[in-house]
Amino acid sequence: MSKLRFEAVLESRNRKPVQIEETGRRSELYAMNVFNEESMLQHLTKDALESVEGAISTGSKIERKIADQVAEAMKGWAINKGATHYTHWFQPLTGATAEKHDAFFDLLTDGRAIEKFGGGQLVQQEPDASSFPNGGIRNTFEARGYTAWDPTSPAFIYGTTLCIPTIFVSYTGEALDNKAPLLRALNAVDDAATAVAKYFDKTVTKVNATLGWEQEYFLIDKALANSRPDLMLTGRTLIGNQAAKGQQLDDHYFGVIPSRALNFMMDLEIESTKLGIPVKTRHNEVAPNQFELAPVYEEANLAVDHNLLLMDVMDKIADRHNFKVLFHEKPFAGVNGSGKHNNWSLATDTGVNLLSPGSTPMKNLQFLTFFVNTIKAVDTYEELLRSSIASASNDHRLGGGEAPPTIISIFIGEQLSNVLDELEGVSKGKLSPEEKTELKLNVVGKIPEILLDNTDRNRTSAFAFTGNKFEMRGVGAKTNCAKPMTVLNTIVAKQLKAFKKEVDVLVNKKNLKKDEAVFNVLREYIKTSKRIRFDGDGYSVDWEKEAEKRKLSNNKNTPEALAVMTTKESIELFGSMHVLSEVELRARQEVDLEDYILNNQIEGRVLNELVNNYILPSCIEYQTKVISNISGLKNLYGTGYKKMAEAQHLILEGLVEHISGLKKECDAMTDARRSANAISDSNKKAVAYCKTVKPYFEKIRYHSDRLERLMDDRLWPLAKYQELLFAN
Ligand code: ADP
Ligand code: MG
Repeated sequence: MSKLRFEAVLESRNRKPVQIEETGRRSELYAMNVFNEESMLQHLTKDALESVEGAISTGSKIERKIADQVAEAMKGWAINKGATHYTHWFQPLTGATAEKHDAFFDLLTDGRAIEKFGGGQLVQQEPDASSFPNGGIRNTFEARGYTAWDPTSPAFIYGTTLCIPTIFVSYTGEALDNKAPLLRALNAVDDAATAVAKYFDKTVTKVNATLGWEQEYFLIDKALANSRPDLMLTGRTLIGNQAAKGQQLDDHYFGVIPSRALNFMMDLEIESTKLGIPVKTRHNEVAPNQFELAPVYEEANLAVDHNLLLMDVMDKIADRHNFKVLFHEKPFAGVNGSGKHNNWSLATDTGVNLLSPGSTPMKNLQFLTFFVNTIKAVDTYEELLRSSIASASNDHRLGGGEAPPTIISIFIGEQLSNVLDELEGVSKGKLSPEEKTELKLNVVGKIPEILLDNTDRNRTSAFAFTGNKFEMRGVGAKTNCAKPMTVLNTIVAKQLKAFKKEVDVLVNKKNLKKDEAVFNVLREYIKTSKRIRFDGDGYSVDWEKEAEKRKLSNNKNTPEALAVMTTKESIELFGSMHVLSEVELRARQEVDLEDYILNNQIEGRVLNELVNNYILPSCIEYQTKVISNISGLKNLYGTGYKKMAEAQHLILEGLVEHISGLKKECDAMTDARRSANAISDSNKKAVAYCKTVKPYFEKIRYHSDRLERLMDDRLWPLAKYQELLFAN
């Protein structure tokens, strides 16, 4: 065994769980490090509080004088809690979060030291951000961007730093981050959904999109993870023979959480709770050493911030427990990868979940309105929704028979399918009183108030209705939820706007009653969006064929999936909803393509290093040993040696075959990479990586995994799957 692997295995086997002390009740810890409404109530004047609350609920501007007051209060609160620095916390297009810390400490002109933090520092900052990806928006001579305070997501103390959630935009106003478009999309869906919700309840003044994500991840011993360059640099194992045992026994799913992992989770939950992240459930997932964590759902912008923060906290806490967290969508071949289901709904400021059936026909008509409009929106823009979850790493997971396919479809279950079928049969135009009664009592009225327990579950669906919310299942574990949430809320906003327009025309010009008009429009939507509904097995080959007949998109890789971002329809959609301009869209597509290329480029390089500097030298060393054994036998026994060395010959043949195969494929991959690198157009380059470079990864892996099976374990240089997946 190589020294590195040997030491790592030894270290991992001798680990003791890091003991965690529970400090008080969860509810007492909750949000203690957050400058939320409660802390604002204590620290702000009435004027300032009202101003901030106005900004949160209606997006009104906060005046500079008030900002100064808020900053002063925030500073006092933070310093009291031990903070020494502050930072604007933002989400550049790298997908992660960024921060640049400044000390509160400052010097006056006379040399005295003070703690300084004013409205100016709170509201706007100019990070030297020229090297964040921008897709060509900022030329280097105009590389300036600024971060601006997002008061809808409260500031929090992380370690000793006061973090202020911000958007990141260029001086020319274009979004350079994932948060700004999300906020715009949430605004759009608020406007559109509020207008429609008013049909049913005039007192509604705001609709919030809600998001509850479920984060899956792997926990790997730190020493073992660090002993593998591929895990360290790419987040996944590029090679590795499957362990004799995988997930086939299903003994991990919902099983007893191993004590080391449990201690990590307890620690994580305490820290997250202090940060106001309402973590709630934890359990083992399907694959060995794979787990899931889910919070109580929140308003979508806050939920996105909390997910990003959580991922960061997880990294840090894992380190304390000698773990490495893997967020990669497919860290190990042969066992399930990790996703991040996005549970989504719309909630009014009157406390109503618009996707939850109610106790009266009117409430159910409201439910049906939002339900059918969501279906229609997803039907129209299914390809765009698919593009929002496309990434190099998620390509390994989608469509692999463990996560939804690359085809977007909606599962609604038998009960609701029946309701929609009946609605479809409703006659056009004005309804007779009998028809109306029949409809209200026997169709709409039949929707049970509590669907949750009645909906059948379909785990293979990309977009499933689960009783009072939709669950988007294709989102990758690493993905920033802001991306799918921006698209989903934008398309629903667009759809609800169109719906309102149609209903108003029927009411104002055709003299239909409002409920008649609603029925009429919904009936058309049900008819025209049928193809997106599919309750069968999403993993099956038949579905692929069926989906093709239905003309649903099936983009199997990221370069293909990203193309739709800049079609005429997409540009019109994002433009009309004021979410992204054409320039911003093109920039985003460029950044996503670039990200795809870079990820594959890095994987190619790491593979090259693994093969040439780790695998081949070890295998050749073993080969030498086998050869010397054979020639020793020959020396000793003369011609009779052959019979004695049959096994050795077989081993040697295997080694020869796979050593040369490995070298050959690796060199060919390097050549293909060179050719791809010479292409300047991002789209063509991404396609070249996808079609001409990536296929070699599997070929290389094949030879390497064969060699791993042949090799003397003592000489194998890398931690094996059984060590990575079963050490705990
Ligand atoms: P499952 O694993 O069966 O899908 P979980 O209970 O693990 O179910 O996850 C359900 C998720 O859905 C939780 O994160 C929860 O907060 C979220 N959720 C529940 N209601 C809503 C809602 N109205 N809007 C958004 N998310 C919701
Ligand atoms: Mg789920």
